Amino acid sequence: MTKVLLTGASGFIAMHVLQQLLAAGYTVKATVRSQAKADFISKTFAAQAEKIEFSIVPDIAAPNAFDEAVVGVDMVVHTASPFHFKVTDPVKDLLDPAMKGTLNILNAIKTYAPQVTRLVLTSSFAAIVNAAEGAWPGHVYTEADWNPVTWEEATTTTPQTTYRASKTFAERSAWDFIEREKPNFTLTTINPPLVWGPMLHEADLSSLNTSNNMVYNMISGATPEVPVGGQTSYVDVRNVAAAHVRALTTPAAVNQRYFVVGGKYTNSQVIGLIGELFPAIKDKLPKCPPGVLPAGLDAEFGVDGSKATRDMGIEYVPLEKSLTDLVTQLLEWQAKA
Ligand code: NDP
Repeated sequence: MTKVLLTGASGFIAMHVLQQLLAAGYTVKATVRSQAKADFISKTFAAQAEKIEFSIVPDIAAPNAFDEAVVGVDMVVHTASPFHFKVTDPVKDLLDPAMKGTLNILNAIKTYAPQVTRLVLTSSFAAIVNAAEGAWPGHVYTEADWNPVTWEEATTTTPQTTYRASKTFAERSAWDFIEREKPNFTLTTINPPLVWGPMLHEADLSSLNTSNNMVYNMISGATPEVPVGGQTSYVDVRNVAAAHVRALTTPAAVNQRYFVVGGKYTNSQVIGLIGELFPAIKDKLPKCPPGVLPAGLDAEFGVDGSKATRDMGIEYVPLEKSLTDLVTQLLEWQAKA
């Protein structure tokens, strides 16, 4: 049976990857930071617990972090990387774990797991988007685009810039490694924008993952007005997980990037939709005209996720479904709190 190493297995996206790996018949070696996280995973997937083993990796940035974890696996999915904006030290908090974590997995596979054939890396739209271009009318983002962020910008501007840079530098270093070292394994990167959908990982309303927390902020009364900013494209977590799993065996996915994107959104559109889907909380939502896209959206950049559909059969979950499943879960948790 093919054994896949899944790093950061206790995370929002990774738990869906784990679920889909098990459903596809793989056995999984999961890296987590602590035994408590391993226990939670074993409980969540109790029916398949014998198909999961664990390797405790408290810090992916520590030297040789994955040297033991890679032993005996056939393929690797590397999702672990910090996604938050609580930055006091840009290098220690975001850049180091993203970049050193990626180099650690690459070096560990090359040195201690020459049998590994495939590495799938969770990158991001953050490594694609060119923030300096802003709305970029007429441009359609695809896998051909690269974020041109510099180290100087990454370490001196906003936490959002630092996060985007962490994903860009990590992904670049992976492609450089493949080019330079010509290892036994191939690379595929999955580059999602903001990921929404139901949660399987251990969380509560005060410890939501960054992307789903943006939706919770809209329904919790935290923001009376429509929040400005944020991203402008989304994808459902189940699509992201499927892309990771299918990339392990799709011949066309060898040494490719995939921009998996369900579509564009605006905060006012999301709030309008939530109001329509959940009329009982409509009055509590930030004020905005339901379903109305702000003027100018048509002039903004486009997004093209068709390569993942073409190569890996990814059929994008509509925004309504992602929001229905996520908000239903959030409201259930809120009722219990
Ligand atoms: P989570 O925060 O839920 O998952 C991140 C995972 O990485 C967790 O398991 C976390 O462990 C682990 N991790 C972070 N830093 C370290 C470290 N220094 N040492 C060991 N483990 C670490 O976020 P997501 O599931 O959303 O993110 C998963 C991946 O997807 C990341 O690479 C992120 O950049 C990428 N991504 C996410 C998007 C989104 O909208 N959610 C969009 C695009 C890309 P622990 O929880 O124990 O701290």
